Amino acid sequence: MREGQLFVAFSLDVDPDSNKAVKGRVDSLSYPPEKGLVRVDAAYRGLKETLQLLEYLDIPATLFFEARTAQLLAEEGPEDIRSLTNGHEIGCHSHRHEDFLGAASGIPISKAQAREIICESIDILNDIFHKKVIGFRAPYLRINRELLSLLGELGFAYDSSIINDCIRPFYMNTARLWEFTVASLRTDSGRRITSYLHPLFQGKIDTKEYVWGVGSQVQRIKGGLFILAFHPWELFIDHSGKALNAENSRQRLEKLTDVLQGLKATSGLEFVRLEQYLEMHNSGKSGHPQIHEVRA
Ligand SMILES: [Zn+2]
Repeated sequence: MREGQLFVAFSLDVDPDSNKAVKGRVDSLSYPPEKGLVRVDAAYRGLKETLQLLEYLDIPATLFFEARTAQLLAEEGPEDIRSLTNGHEIGCHSHRHEDFLGAASGIPISKAQAREIICESIDILNDIFHKKVIGFRAPYLRINRELLSLLGELGFAYDSSIINDCIRPFYMNTARLWEFTVASLRTDSGRRITSYLHPLFQGKIDTKEYVWGVGSQVQRIKGGLFILAFHPWELFIDHSGKALNAENSRQRLEKLTDVLQGLKATSGLEFVRLEQYLEMHNSGKSGHPQIHEVRA
């Protein structure tokens, strides 16, 4: 990695509109779960809007697709999902947004079942996107050692589900897998900044502060990686599935634009897809022992 450089990866969790885990079932449903529905219309509109913005700003992204959402968009969406997402990395966000640890569903999933679920997801994603999928993000960021070692066994190269206050990727020896952590950290001014952008949409932090906060990490870990994350449906609905009014939607898109544009203009920051980051590391362009940290 280059000296004095902080890599920034923009990641999207492409999953059903404001989906929630439901007690007694392993998959998720759009809110309110009593209706028993899985909707992807806000996810589609948000994805399209975001991809247009990324094209305009010339920023590459990593799209963690829930396989069911990808399938719904491929079969019923108004546009060819493969050409729409062209140029971006495709990652896996499980099949039906399974609650693997059973934290909310009350049904923990065994390693054998998880293997089946994830293999099916990869098959679906391969069929739709014709791309090698090497990255995984667990629904609800719920992951444990068993699931991590399963990912390694299935040939994934990295996971991005663990929340950490350090932006230093690490290699997990036992799982044979890289971890690209999702950030939640305090800046020198004491403000908390997170990978997930909803605090920004909810007005808990403003865009200038957020951009400054990320930029302030440049010197902290040279060659480090700060991941941004959001759900495309957040541009049109809230977490309880309520449609935002046009003004609210416009404000959220504006905030997203300001953050991406602000980061792009910050010296020492470079946007990459997560697979690109790994490639740079593997091809020996790193030279920074800090990111060679190994954890059992
Ligand atoms: Zn999700």
